[in-house]
Amino acid sequence: LKELNIKGWIRDVRSLGGIIFLEVIEGNSLTPITVVIKKSENPLLIKTAKKIKLGSAIQVKGIEPERIISKKGKEIHAKELSILAEPSEPSPLDPTGKTKALLDTVLQYRYLALRFPEQRAIFRIRAGIVEASRRYLSGKGLLEVHTPKICGAGAEGGATVFKLDYFGKKAFLSQSPQLYKQMLMCGLPGVYEITPYFRAEKFDTPRHLNESWGIDAEISFITDFGDVMSLLEGLIVYIFEYIKDNYKKEIELLDVDLEIPRRPFKRITYSDALEILRNNGLRLEWGSDLDSEAEKVLGKTMMEEGYDAYFIIEYPWEAKPFYIMKKGAISLSFDLDYRGIELASGGQREHRYWELIENMKNKGLDPKSFSFYLEAFKYGMPPHGGFGLGLDRLLMVLIGARNIREVVLFPRDRQRLIP
Ligand code: ATP
Ligand code: MG
Repeated sequence: LKELNIKGWIRDVRSLGGIIFLEVIEGNSLTPITVVIKKSENPLLIKTAKKIKLGSAIQVKGIEPERIISKKGKEIHAKELSILAEPSEPSPLDPTGKTKALLDTVLQYRYLALRFPEQRAIFRIRAGIVEASRRYLSGKGLLEVHTPKICGAGAEGGATVFKLDYFGKKAFLSQSPQLYKQMLMCGLPGVYEITPYFRAEKFDTPRHLNESWGIDAEISFITDFGDVMSLLEGLIVYIFEYIKDNYKKEIELLDVDLEIPRRPFKRITYSDALEILRNNGLRLEWGSDLDSEAEKVLGKTMMEEGYDAYFIIEYPWEAKPFYIMKKGAISLSFDLDYRGIELASGGQREHRYWELIENMKNKGLDPKSFSFYLEAFKYGMPPHGGFGLGLDRLLMVLIGARNIREVVLFPRDRQRLIP
């Protein structure tokens, strides 16, 4: 007989004849363990067990029986039971999980919600995505780096940054590591960073947050932006396979039908995309950004062709930031979309000093305020490119969540600054 010593929280209490069953969320487990206390064996313990409150933190010592009498998987027959902490108020979430809580309540009490197996599964998969990304990108020879989040200049222009006071100087929270990871291409063949993005737009959608996380990569000595797309495609497929192989139980709990996206991902040009949209009754001017409605229609068409993941390449340069390489009216850029939702943007960067300055002026930016960045382009900056992949977005589509807030522990949006 195996001795067990478990610690966890009481999720449910049932009594039947002379037996009490305590359902306990234990350790990191995704399945509760049933603690069995028999009156005939342990009259004192039964007294304690009868008074126990749902949600209490407890420790149980006992033995694993040869034959299980409860209906649910794992069981322990208690010899000792200690109550380590009792709730002073009833839980705002139904401890049994039978009554589903509203998302707002979950977000307010996320720490409590993490006792539910489904919640644990979401954040374990999240950690799994980060782990897979590290393995894949390090394996490709990219160095994991950390660049400043307090910055003196914004990457995408001034209107969308959070400003802060830095010892009397104006500073910003970083919108993306764009400028720094590019500067690093002057000294390294490849870098990646798993990092928060801070964006001050007044978003009001199920897929935007004001603080989100991204997996950013940049590689140098590229031939063209196809090299960057291959890296991203490889990463996405690796992540899906990694989660499918290593998180079977989590996937099952969340009732996800995880399909590895078909390779090679379909590549359509921006002009092709406009054509597809037109055939579906959506008329967009050449040059305009694809809004969420357009993305959705495109996603549907691609899925009908058997592609969950696809690249939209060669956007009009007008619609892209200054650092993207320009080729006439188009840009050497791509977006990666999955079933109608943008997961990543990337492309080849302008590595030539004078062309870069020209691009900045073209976008109405003052090269003087970017001199720290431009400096790095004077000393043999090789052709390079990269991407920013939204971690929250990826997790969202991977588990089929409808709202990005479901996959972020403590989301930051216009309404939420606490907890
Ligand atoms: P979108 O067009 O969807 O608003 P974007 O083009 O402004 O996104 P990028 O600058 O391309 O965003 O950032 C790279 C990736 O980071 C995006 O493809 C997306 O997956 C993710 N991302 C960007 N902004 C947000 C946000 N506010 N909330 C959540 N994820 C974001
Ligand atoms: Mg983008």
